[in-house]
Amino acid sequence: MFNSLSDRLTATFKNLRGKGRLSEADVDGTVREIRRALLDADVAVPVVREFVAQVKERALGEEVSTSLNPGQQIVKIVNDELVRILGGQTRRLNLAKVPPTVIMLAGLQGAGKTTLAGKLAKHLKSQGHTPLLVACDLQRPNAVKQLQVNGERAGVPVFAPHPGVSSEFEASTGDPVAVARDGIAEAKTKLHDIVIVDTAGRLGVDTEMMEQAADIRAAINPDEVLFVIDAMIGQDAVNTAQAFNDGVNFTGVVLTKLDGDARGGAALSVASVTGKPVMFASTGENLDDFEIFHPDRMASRILDMGDILTLIEQAEKSWDKGEAERMAKKFTDREDFTLDDFLAQMQQIRKMGSMKKMLAMMPGAAISKQQLEQFDEKQMDRVEAIVRSMTPHERVAPKIINGSRRARIAKGSGVHVSEVNQMLERFGEAQKMMKKMASGGGIPGMPGARG
Ligand code: GDP
Repeated sequence: MFNSLSDRLTATFKNLRGKGRLSEADVDGTVREIRRALLDADVAVPVVREFVAQVKERALGEEVSTSLNPGQQIVKIVNDELVRILGGQTRRLNLAKVPPTVIMLAGLQGAGKTTLAGKLAKHLKSQGHTPLLVACDLQRPNAVKQLQVNGERAGVPVFAPHPGVSSEFEASTGDPVAVARDGIAEAKTKLHDIVIVDTAGRLGVDTEMMEQAADIRAAINPDEVLFVIDAMIGQDAVNTAQAFNDGVNFTGVVLTKLDGDARGGAALSVASVTGKPVMFASTGENLDDFEIFHPDRMASRILDMGDILTLIEQAEKSWDKGEAERMAKKFTDREDFTLDDFLAQMQQIRKMGSMKKMLAMMPGAAISKQQLEQFDEKQMDRVEAIVRSMTPHERVAPKIINGSRRARIAKGSGVHVSEVNQMLERFGEAQKMMKKMASGGGIPGMPGARG
């Protein structure tokens, strides 16, 4: 997702590098490129129009900053505008003052609601909540059963119309509004502090479905109504989102299938068009493929500035806490980033499962898209072997690794000297990046951009 948009935008910015001043023609050219990149990524036309107008106005009007060069200034403006159209600040769930908090899910069939219900339940459980899942999708064959399976995986109970009944025929005889009400009553009795209500979708927007969703909403008065949308559906996303906004007046958006290779326009348009923030993202079929959506981090991911914070958060799920905190400290303190850290980081990353997804979040300068495509675990084995063949002193002071040391390390790790050279070069880049991030508060080469 976003790869081609990201490539296009970063290529545009590259053209500005080294310019001392930006002429109006420079700004025009840049804005034109941005417009094309957004349209090609399927961002809705009105969103694109407003986006480029804002960028242009600010690029021409902004006071000349002493800390940023003109190219960086445009990157900063585009970054700010991306954050804005993605919904601004990270929006957390609204929890009810008197439990249970009621969260209703709505969206088209296949959007990923039932899957999301399980993910959200698992996430909330890990935060110390005691959620209950309520199965009100009585339309789709097997939806109740699927929710029960997800609930079991998440370790969260499921309230279903007739316990144990999962066949299409029997389930469809239930009344979803009554099930929703009963589910909430059950949560109150059994002291669940959060109720997640899964509802039925259709393949397209239709009146009956919308009425049913609106009836459920009216009956249970939820604290949050999350509109779940498949980011792969492209231009249709905006119309669907508008229809659901009119129909159930949702309070937040969940983007699913962000692991796919859609061009990302839906994701960039929905929040902007409906005025409702994106709150969560779903990035795969497993229950752990779930993220709290941070507009600022997504923007810097699109602009290829990496996403260290999300990386650390993901890491916390699979690392021990102490290690994660130590690593987070490394990123923010001005401590030196050594080859030992590099090795430790690599080992932790390996533990985290989906390698490419993790690496995609790392700053672009450390690992390029191309390297990512070519990335394989064997290469990682070789890098690890190289670092392991170094002495402790070499690891903290790589500058001393001269020609003869390189030859010794290559021999010790069974690789060619050129691979040692390459590895050290890449490490040097990563080290530089870490320093910049530590001192600049986030975006490399852009002091104070993340205030
Ligand atoms: P519902 O009809 O809205 O309840 O949709 P489901 O939860 O049944 O999801 C439809 C399909 O999409 C299922 O095959 C899910 O496994 C799949 N799915 C859901 N979320 C994601 C995601 O984030 N990434 C990917 N790749 N697949 C997903």
